[in-house]
Amino acid sequence: MIELTGRSRSSDEGSSPSRPSFRRRLLTVVGPALAGALLLLGLLGWGAVYVALQQGAVDVLQAEVIEVTADIESNERGNLEAGGHEWEEVHHRLANERVDPVFVQVFDRYYRIIRASANIDSLSARYPEQPLATSRSSDWIPTLQTFEAGGRTLYYLVEPIARDGRTVGYVQVARPLPEHGPVLRRYAATLGLVIVLLFGGLLALIGWAAGRVLRPLRSIIAFAETTTSSDLGERIDVPEMVDHETALLARTINDLLDRLEESFEALRTFTSNAAHELQTPLTVLQGHVEIALRRSRSAESYESTLRLLDRRLGEMVRTVRALLTLTRLDQGEELSTEPVDLGTLAHEEVAAAQSQADEKGLTLTVDTDEVWVEGQPDLLREAAQNLVDNAVKYTEDGEVRVTVTEEEGRAIFRCRDNGMGIEKDDLPHVGARFYRSQKAGTDDAEGSGLGLSLVRRIVEAHDGTLRVESTPEKGSQFEIVLSTVPAPASAPAVNAS
Ligand code: ADP
Repeated sequence: MIELTGRSRSSDEGSSPSRPSFRRRLLTVVGPALAGALLLLGLLGWGAVYVALQQGAVDVLQAEVIEVTADIESNERGNLEAGGHEWEEVHHRLANERVDPVFVQVFDRYYRIIRASANIDSLSARYPEQPLATSRSSDWIPTLQTFEAGGRTLYYLVEPIARDGRTVGYVQVARPLPEHGPVLRRYAATLGLVIVLLFGGLLALIGWAAGRVLRPLRSIIAFAETTTSSDLGERIDVPEMVDHETALLARTINDLLDRLEESFEALRTFTSNAAHELQTPLTVLQGHVEIALRRSRSAESYESTLRLLDRRLGEMVRTVRALLTLTRLDQGEELSTEPVDLGTLAHEEVAAAQSQADEKGLTLTVDTDEVWVEGQPDLLREAAQNLVDNAVKYTEDGEVRVTVTEEEGRAIFRCRDNGMGIEKDDLPHVGARFYRSQKAGTDDAEGSGLGLSLVRRIVEAHDGTLRVESTPEKGSQFEIVLSTVPAPASAPAVNAS
């Protein structure tokens, strides 16, 4: 087991230097977006302060208007009359900067001045004697309307005075334009500094977080780099706190290792079984040859030895052929298929097994319909041959019957015998590579335990099913079930190998 949270041994070894690291790629993607977002935030912050300052300036004049309007009364005819308030405050009397002066004028509805604050006279220049034009300022960003008087820029507000829904006059207030520039510049500089620091800090944080996220991945890489076929039993340990994706990756690699280990194990068993399967007959062959060579013998004796060798060699050739076919099928080799009549094929295989059945005194019968399937003729022949041979091999006396029928759109090649049958415990293993039942092993029947596994693999390669039913001492029935296809227009004879 390895620890995902441990420090990794290998880091960038083996990774191409031309590829940017995950951290760099993340920073290149996130960096500009982050900078944009912070900049926008800064602009909004600056804008908010600007608006607040402008609104504050307007509010000062508006408060003044409210105060002045409250002082003014109008008589029944709608004429304005001066209120009791004399505007004695210093900011109404004086005009210098230190008292923050406010200049007030009250006009009647004919734009005639009714009252004006005393500080207007202190301004050396001419001051407007009528209400100034006003334009509506935006709801979002209040604008200050200005005019020049006495070498100073003043901003102003003109508000109508209403009585009973009628305009009876106007109040005009003005004040020196406040200097917002320096405040806004200082604020912008501070904001800029904060944004730069925030940007740098956030980038560092993202880089650090990326490093933390990558740490378990580095451990996985180090693990994968050092895993060889000899330690396929090792697995990646997935601690609880690792994130979902990394845990998923680790589990996927573990699953892959499970499958690889299984395949390697199967391959190892297969290779050692294959070697064993060939070694035994080879040793037997060698023994026969050695005995034959010990002294000189009659021609009949040599002939009988050669016949024995021929039989054993035939078995070995069959085993090697089966191994090769299994390997080809395992590699997923594309089958070159064509329509094959299973009926004709069954007849040919039964004919081939006839002499062997006759030797054992068995009745071998065949009864077929013309049923077409799409398949690789040599492989289908191999499968049929194995089933018929087994039936003859494992039946001592009685009958072997081969039928081919079409049932519910499926082609069924059925091989039934009343031979020794298969024990219930053996049944699930029949069809596994190199598996031979106890009884078959002790009997004299020749075989390698590859025949049925080959049939199974061939049927699988044709998307079909292999079914078996068996009762010990009563007999067995094997069925190959395949999809049918329509008979070709000019039905070709089934290829003979
Ligand atoms: P082999 O015949 O070379 O031993 P197979 O793969 O063809 O190998 O068969 C595997 C095992 O299945 C045989 O050893 C035998 O025990 C059992 N078997 C196969 N066909 C029959 C049959 N028709 N009747 C009884 N047992 C059978």
